[in-house]
Amino acid sequence: MTSSAIWHPFTQHALEPSMTRISRAEGAWLETPEGKRIFDGVSSWWVITHGHRHPKIIEAIRAQAELLDQVIFAGFTHEPAEAVAAGLLKIAPPGLRHVFFSDSGSTSVEVALKMALGYWKNTGRRRTRILALEDAYHGDTIGTMSAGARGVFNAAYEPLLFEVGRIPLPKPHHAQPTFDALEIACRKGDVAAFICEPLILGAGGMLMYDADALKEMHRICKAHDVLFIADEVMTGFGRTGTVFACEQAGISPDILCIAKGITGGSIPLAVTMCSAPIYDAHLSKDRSRTFFHSSSYTANPIACAAAAANLEVWRREPVIERILTLTANQALCLKDLEADPRFSNLRQLGTITAFELANAQQGYLADITLALRARLLERGVLLRPLGSTVYVMPPYCTTKDELKFVYRSLVDTVDEVLS
Ligand code: PMP
Repeated sequence: MTSSAIWHPFTQHALEPSMTRISRAEGAWLETPEGKRIFDGVSSWWVITHGHRHPKIIEAIRAQAELLDQVIFAGFTHEPAEAVAAGLLKIAPPGLRHVFFSDSGSTSVEVALKMALGYWKNTGRRRTRILALEDAYHGDTIGTMSAGARGVFNAAYEPLLFEVGRIPLPKPHHAQPTFDALEIACRKGDVAAFICEPLILGAGGMLMYDADALKEMHRICKAHDVLFIADEVMTGFGRTGTVFACEQAGISPDILCIAKGITGGSIPLAVTMCSAPIYDAHLSKDRSRTFFHSSSYTANPIACAAAAANLEVWRREPVIERILTLTANQALCLKDLEADPRFSNLRQLGTITAFELANAQQGYLADITLALRARLLERGVLLRPLGSTVYVMPPYCTTKDELKFVYRSLVDTVDEVLS
């Protein structure tokens, strides 16, 4: 089951000391062919929102597969794509008027960067600089890596495609250095866009910041005519307690990137939404051409059917109530760790909790991280610490008892690993 001896035909294996074969999933649980159940404490890389195989979403995937599997999305359209676009326009922050489909979070950000650069070029003004938060992660294509922090996974590809102006992450009660750096950078007049994950840096270390800081960063960008790109690939669809994290600051970005939870996580789809001026700037005079990025699978009908079903689930089921229940249960479990000196910097944003392991080595592939991961897996819990940062981000269907099992397993494993 978890053997490092067998050879895998995947290059991912180079990073993973062992692999576990999974053959089924249901709710918050994965299952091996031998019937071992593993709790999915990371929502399978933050994509599964309601739970694995939500019946309505699976039903929609099945039904669509019987009708139309794929069609070129240039000069052609289909009902599921239209339903998704119409549904997103109803729930997205106001001002986002257009929907561009693609197939992964990285591509949705890549598209956002292209839209921003194209906007300035097409309106005859020379603005080419991108600003991003320090430690940010925005994807794994070479463009999105260029916007992200220069860390262990992209150092090999330096100098990447472009240099990015780095803005320090707003610290709790000490956000002024962030605002000053953003103001100074924006004043130079060459900035096309500022990109950030609202309220939390995910892969950057589950670092959280407050809505007032987000609001102020947005205000500064607007004051200098700098486009504001919100990367809600991770935060979108309820993770932080609202459908989109931007809502908590009452802001509307010029460009919004969504993926992962857009289909409930069962199948890949991504969307980049933009405001009317950005869309208009890409329209040719005869209105026959617009923004161009021709992903083969753009708006795949089966993926769109899953996304349309997901929007329907949000409309018909008490999803926000489930999120609030999970949020409250997460808070209780986190509180239980407060008195334990081995856990520090305990923090929570909606359904996500995170904390540091005291005195642990840093680094994504540090021994402690790998040991913790392996031992937790033996106990039937999938967590993937980011260096010394442990986070718990389960599907919204997770019950109080399941969550208690996760934290109990974690404490027991830390007892073993740190002793
Ligand atoms: N942006 C953010 C904030 C993400 O968390 C991720 C994925 N973890 C991406 C972009 C890239 O998405 P994908 O892996 O679907 O390409």
